Amino acid sequence: MRMISRLRKVPALGRPLMLLAALAILGACSEQKPESSTESAAQVSPDKSAFAAVTTQRIIDTGASDEWLTYGGSYDEQRHSSLTALNRETVTNLGVAWTYDLQTNRGVESTPIVVDGVMYVTSAWSLVYALDAATGKELWVYNPEVDKAVGVNACCDVVNRGVAVYEGQVFVGVIDGRLEALDAATGKRNWSVVTVDQSKPYTITGAPRVVNGKVLIGNGGAELGVRGYLSAYDANSGDKVWRFYTVPNPNKEPDNEISDEVFAKLGNDSWGDDGHWVTDGGGGTVWDSIVYDDVNDQIVFGVGNGSPWNRNFRDPAGGDNLFLSSIVAVDADTGRYRWHFQTTPGDNWDYTATQSIILADLPLGDEGSPVRVAMQAPKNGFFYVINATNGEFISGEAFGPVSWATGLDKNGRPIEAEGARYGKNPVTLLPGPSGAHNWHPMAYNPELELAYIPAQEIPATYAEDSRFSAGSTAWNTGADFAAGTPPILSPADLKAARAALKGRLIAWDPKVQEARWSVEHANAWNGGVLSTAGGLVFQGRLDGVFVAYDAATGEALWSYDLHSGANAGPATFSIDNTQYVTITTGWGSLYALTAGYAYDEALAPTVGKVVTFKLGGTKSIAEPDLPQVDRSTLAVAFGSEEMLREGLVHYARNCLVCHGPFAASSGVLPDLRWSPITANADAWNSVVIDGILAKNGMVSFAEYLTNEDAEAIRAYVVSQARADMNIRGVD
Ligand code: CA
Repeated sequence: MRMISRLRKVPALGRPLMLLAALAILGACSEQKPESSTESAAQVSPDKSAFAAVTTQRIIDTGASDEWLTYGGSYDEQRHSSLTALNRETVTNLGVAWTYDLQTNRGVESTPIVVDGVMYVTSAWSLVYALDAATGKELWVYNPEVDKAVGVNACCDVVNRGVAVYEGQVFVGVIDGRLEALDAATGKRNWSVVTVDQSKPYTITGAPRVVNGKVLIGNGGAELGVRGYLSAYDANSGDKVWRFYTVPNPNKEPDNEISDEVFAKLGNDSWGDDGHWVTDGGGGTVWDSIVYDDVNDQIVFGVGNGSPWNRNFRDPAGGDNLFLSSIVAVDADTGRYRWHFQTTPGDNWDYTATQSIILADLPLGDEGSPVRVAMQAPKNGFFYVINATNGEFISGEAFGPVSWATGLDKNGRPIEAEGARYGKNPVTLLPGPSGAHNWHPMAYNPELELAYIPAQEIPATYAEDSRFSAGSTAWNTGADFAAGTPPILSPADLKAARAALKGRLIAWDPKVQEARWSVEHANAWNGGVLSTAGGLVFQGRLDGVFVAYDAATGEALWSYDLHSGANAGPATFSIDNTQYVTITTGWGSLYALTAGYAYDEALAPTVGKVVTFKLGGTKSIAEPDLPQVDRSTLAVAFGSEEMLREGLVHYARNCLVCHGPFAASSGVLPDLRWSPITANADAWNSVVIDGILAKNGMVSFAEYLTNEDAEAIRAYVVSQARADMNIRGVD
């Protein structure tokens, strides 16, 4: 989602900018067209012990080397491989070894797992694929057969970031809240457990981790309204072992879970007794980073934003609201609280702290002795170095432009800028809800002692939503996404909106908290990062370019056009002395859903792929034959300026996160401006109010919209179609 608004000053930039800001956050949503149906083929037989015979000790011993055994490469999630066959000299000879077509055409965020010669990878809608890692030959495919109507609960496309493997099983978190264990040899399901209350808008997009026989899984949904937690399940039986809530029980009573102790002691007092958190969950979802610290035998995980975002609605008492936007450490065996560090006390802006957590030893002790640290670059724009043993703040610094806070105090608490806690008057801030860094995996090179941050600069205008009331289908943020947006898009607006979007790859020295080098991208949304001992940093981008940089200097040494959005974390591995690099591709994810206007010509959905490179690879990726946008159904404009303004407000509240700001779709979901139903009030109502396309994920919005509201939205959408034609110089 993205909020567009006319920006006022961005204080930290020191100059008045009239921008159209994009609040990018969400996306979700439904399906554009039916996808090819899938079968769960299970024809591989063999010796079960030869498949994914992974233990905790094997993950510790292997690290990221010939194999890629866990989401972040190794338990410390540095995404740094010790392989060196690919290096600064040889990388220019890198070519495609094989490609494999996934069975979906939505966003793909999956980092592959590679073990015992087999690659396990996921796609949109939580499908799991097992492939021969050297050839790409399909071994099996598992489809959890998700009811696509759950797509409306997914804030940021129906993506999945990958699986975990352990003792012959493959574990996947399914978008509808299931955790499932598959036989690694056959893809047959061993067990399935529902980890959430499916009557609430929970989703799972993150990769599970497995530690000592326990599968760790969180969930998402804080934009709509849920209560977050991290759970551990027994890998063999699927039985729940422990659960750690990140937000108090609504009555501040015990849940009979391991988190009860810490809430009685310090968590409950950081919340008032009233507010939307009591009825709507409070947020704090653990939707991405979950890291095992084997030195301290603890799980360190990142906690998401508050729900609703606006603390005035969430908790009028105005407390810090533990453990929102925090890094939390718990005992790996029992889930008992160890320590926490809250990056954004009393979150008000969707500043999640779910982003990559990397464990490392930095020479910060006496006489340069090593200190074990946890590092994170969360959405709020500051890079944190935290003592992993006790959670103490060591240092923190802004890694890009930040205007919501003027800095950090000696304890690492942000010093909020005046006016950053927005009220009815719109205020434009950096970062916006898209964050200065989102889910794209960060990497760390322990030899150069540099972290590589996929950073972005996407401002947003925040204002209190004067019509706020929480519902179950729509986003419930308490922020007005229409604030400051012009009812009719002009060429100048579009130009300014595009100019406001920036992306960078930053090499950050965590010891001294400053950038060593930085590369500016042509667009804001970049991709996950892989670091290698060959002195390389690999990164994909949503515009399809995959680049290898010199890890020390940032010089681009090699690039390849994947002809599809590429923002997943790449992985590398070696089989029979050949080093491979793999990245998964697919047009979609949050930014594609919410920034269609960033592209001159919206791309069309293409089938997702697994693309694997090796030195001397000679395969190629054909340029997809993208259909032309059909603008022939342009409807006759109608509606007064007041009606268009109403239409914008309802559009921003109900439609924008999936169908895009300015009603401009990126092609992943239908572009309403050119949809035939836009020309006909009855057809429009049958979809928006009657929900005839619910099976595709476009559910009825009758709970939120009257017929009159729906008609105002139609008028707004038609006006944006007309505006687009004007911008293109067509009458
Ligand atoms: Ca969020």
